[in-house]
Amino acid sequence: MKFKEKVSYLECDTCSRRFAPGEVDLTCPDCGPGLGTLTVVYNYDEIGKILTAGTLENRKEFSHWRYLEILPVSARPEKLHPRVGWTPLYRLPALGRRLGVENLWIKDDGVNPSASFKDRASSVGVARAIEEGRSVITAASTGNAASSVALFAACAGLRAVIFVPETAPEAKVAQLLMFGAEVLSVRGTYDQAFDLCLQTALDRGWYCRNTAVNPYLGEGKKTAALEICEQLGFDPPDRVFVSVGDGCIIGGLWKGFCDFKKLGLIDRLPRLYGIQAGGSAPLVRAFEKGEKTATPLIEAKTCADSICVGQPRDHIKALRAVYESQGAMLAVEDDEILEAMRRLAREAGVFAEPAGATGFAGLCRLASQGEIGPGERVVVLVTGNGLKDVQTAISAVDRKPVPVDANIQAVKSVLK
Ligand SMILES: *Cc1c(COP(=O)(O)O)cnc(C)c1O
Ligand SMILES: [Zn+2]
Repeated sequence: MKFKEKVSYLECDTCSRRFAPGEVDLTCPDCGPGLGTLTVVYNYDEIGKILTAGTLENRKEFSHWRYLEILPVSARPEKLHPRVGWTPLYRLPALGRRLGVENLWIKDDGVNPSASFKDRASSVGVARAIEEGRSVITAASTGNAASSVALFAACAGLRAVIFVPETAPEAKVAQLLMFGAEVLSVRGTYDQAFDLCLQTALDRGWYCRNTAVNPYLGEGKKTAALEICEQLGFDPPDRVFVSVGDGCIIGGLWKGFCDFKKLGLIDRLPRLYGIQAGGSAPLVRAFEKGEKTATPLIEAKTCADSICVGQPRDHIKALRAVYESQGAMLAVEDDEILEAMRRLAREAGVFAEPAGATGFAGLCRLASQGEIGPGERVVVLVTGNGLKDVQTAISAVDRKPVPVDANIQAVKSVLK
């Protein structure tokens, strides 16, 4: 099916105004970028005839493009990296028992091509840019979305212009430069970089990959939910834990579960738990007050740079995800995040960056409070690889290498 056949319309998250596919690029003109984020609504009846458990079972496409029918592009883009998504879902009974969560799975999205969850969104964003015949793509990012879009732009031969805060970890900047992007290192915060990027995109007519304002990014992010359903035999989990910065991942996950329910592929929905860092938790505050939108923070601060966001751009969808699913937004402290990194590495063999481990830190917190019933099935998403931020990983470990002279006597004496 072509893009315009499968997408019925886009709906404004605030005023519910509907737009035909292709009618607007980014957000609802009546509500503006802060409130006018759009939700992509498909032609579920027609898609449901093609996308069934049977067709999926026989499908040899082991990437998130296996869900092409429910993605907002006409064709699988040949030029793009072949291996996005279809990431492993590890069952971890021993770690689960120690937490009192017998049925625990970890989905490791750090194994994506640029080593973070962002590849799901960037691949769909760049595919849309190709279908629309665009030649320049721009993005603002704490680092991962940037390196991810740079990778896919390189595959597609697009010019990429990237805005990052000057505090972005070196490894992420190294990826950007290696993929050939033009990088503007903004002397300011991520929130400021975001606004500068959006304004430049509008001025120059560049394709904008900024989270939330581009409605198709969440469509890429939802594929993790589709995979979780399929990997669990279309028997969805009871709870899903994920870290939250702008809120696009959690909003996308909810969309994915709801899309699969509309297609009749699952018959119930999980509760979603969005975990923020205590120093950067505007969505937790909004959730605790029962509000539908978040009030921006003056200053956000956490060691988890990927979720260091004062003004969450996908606040409406993120809050909707936890209210509608009867989940919650929770805050954890930075030392809990560092502990979660160590546990994931030592007890699950998964090396996560701080924001990558934050969902797991949230599960540890809830499990220790006895909130999770013994029979419940829980999935935790790991959103980014630990090599993305080596500096914080080194500060998180409680041991150092032991210096030793290059002779066997010296080795014997230090080993004891
Ligand atoms: C971007 C990112 C997040 C948060 O995603 P949002 O959509 O901003 O909520 C979490 N973890 C990692 C590793 C990320 O790169
Ligand atoms: Zn609107």
